[in-house]
Amino acid sequence: MVGYRWTCQACQAGNEPNVDKCEFCGCPANAGTEDIEKHTNPEGFKKKKAKEQYSKSLVIYFYIPFFAAIHAVNGSYESLIILLGITAVVSFKNIKLLTHIWGDNWARSSLITISSLFLASILVRIFLIPDNSDFVWWSVLFYFLLALFSFYYFFNSKNGKRVFSEYYAKANKPLKRDS
Ligand SMILES: [Zn+2]
Repeated sequence: MVGYRWTCQACQAGNEPNVDKCEFCGCPANAGTEDIEKHTNPEGFKKKKAKEQYSKSLVIYFYIPFFAAIHAVNGSYESLIILLGITAVVSFKNIKLLTHIWGDNWARSSLITISSLFLASILVRIFLIPDNSDFVWWSVLFYFLLALFSFYYFFNSKNGKRVFSEYYAKANKPLKRDS
């Protein structure tokens, strides 16, 4: 109970003191930014959440060869097997998403290029740059920039947005009734 008449932050409707959710749109009286967005633009909010989930599910593939190489070179085969096992489980769970990515030429070749660049950079670091060299810091800077650039390119470029929109449309398509 709010205790005073209040105005909904999402739909601007006036509400009675004894309700703590807007009677018109359901937005809570003490709504945060996310709640307000969820009620003012439900479709946009749903798509934004889906995009976050999509990015989270795919970004790991940028780094899998990178970390696999570190474990393989260090001889920590246990960690390597755990990494590959987790990758297999996660990939199985996201098989529809991965199939979609694999079916798109741009997405497939971008993902392969990005993960190869990470792999190449860690191999250069391990085999060509001595641990006490100044280049160690440059390589750290390089991973950082590569991570930023890859994320932007894969998720926010024109093609990146297209691949997501196509996936989102496919995933949210109303089920076809069998005739
Ligand atoms: Zn409202």
